[in-house]
Amino acid sequence: MAHAPTDSDYIVITPDPPLKPAPAILTTPTAMRRWRAAHPGPLGLVPTMGYLHEGHIDLVHRARRENMHVVVSIFVNPTQFGPNEDFEKYPRDEVRDLNLLRDAEVDAVYLPSAAEMYPRGFQTYVSVEDVTQPLEGASRPGHFRGVTTVVLKLFNATGPDRAYFGKKDAQQLRVIQRMTRDLDLGVEIVPCEIVREPDGLAMSSRNVYLTPAQRAAAPVLKQALEHARNLWNSGVRDAETLRRAVRSQIEGEPLAEIEYISLAEDATLRELDGPAAGAALLSLVVRFGHTRLLDNVELR
Ligand code: AMP
Repeated sequence: MAHAPTDSDYIVITPDPPLKPAPAILTTPTAMRRWRAAHPGPLGLVPTMGYLHEGHIDLVHRARRENMHVVVSIFVNPTQFGPNEDFEKYPRDEVRDLNLLRDAEVDAVYLPSAAEMYPRGFQTYVSVEDVTQPLEGASRPGHFRGVTTVVLKLFNATGPDRAYFGKKDAQQLRVIQRMTRDLDLGVEIVPCEIVREPDGLAMSSRNVYLTPAQRAAAPVLKQALEHARNLWNSGVRDAETLRRAVRSQIEGEPLAEIEYISLAEDATLRELDGPAAGAALLSLVVRFGHTRLLDNVELR
């Protein structure tokens, strides 16, 4: 006959290592600020647009090592997408992201809605001048104004001591560093190395758009950048020679359509003519079908 369960009816298992606690999830700037007020001490912020990969998680691990608290923001920011860009179809998978962030021992996830971030009547933007003009700024008008505005809002809501950005978005990193210094934000911007697939393709949420043939062709970007790095290491400094070396390698790949190849002064991103005197950034955007892939290498 059935009986009411007693303690001896259960086997109690204490997992070892213990289960990781789920991060707090904050969905409004007010809730985020309250959480921060209740969690004093060094805080590292990792801003993302979600659909996380190992490149993002590498930033999170670094933030985990260097701070008492780690907050990851996930927000696909409409103001940094142009009218004909992929905002609507940008890949999203919140449940998977939250599981990855729990495994990475994140304390809180800031997940605001677009309506919270951009309330009716929104009309205040921050823009950085010269360093936003070339490269991505020229290809994507208004992009960096959207980026700087949202990053400032994320800083205001989360109150970070440090914020972690990938070198994959090399111009974005310089723009954020500039804004942070110019506006006295008091946040340490921590640049993190590019994380790549085993065949050299830089990890990106947008890599899921690639067809199998495009995916197989995409490592040509890293190979071309490596070729230029070898030339640089052997003493080649002429800007056009380096750009041409990259271009001719990529042109050998029929699926690749070059949008730009740049060799620019590292700090200002001014395009170089003639020989590079100091450190330089070699960066490129190549399209495979509708998918834009960014990559770069620092030459020093
Ligand atoms: P996203 O979600 O694409 O806006 O990227 C969020 C942050 O992760 C940015 O600081 C990116 O530069 C960084 N990130 C994206 N992909 C990589 C990668 N492959 N390696 C290192 N950092 C990355």
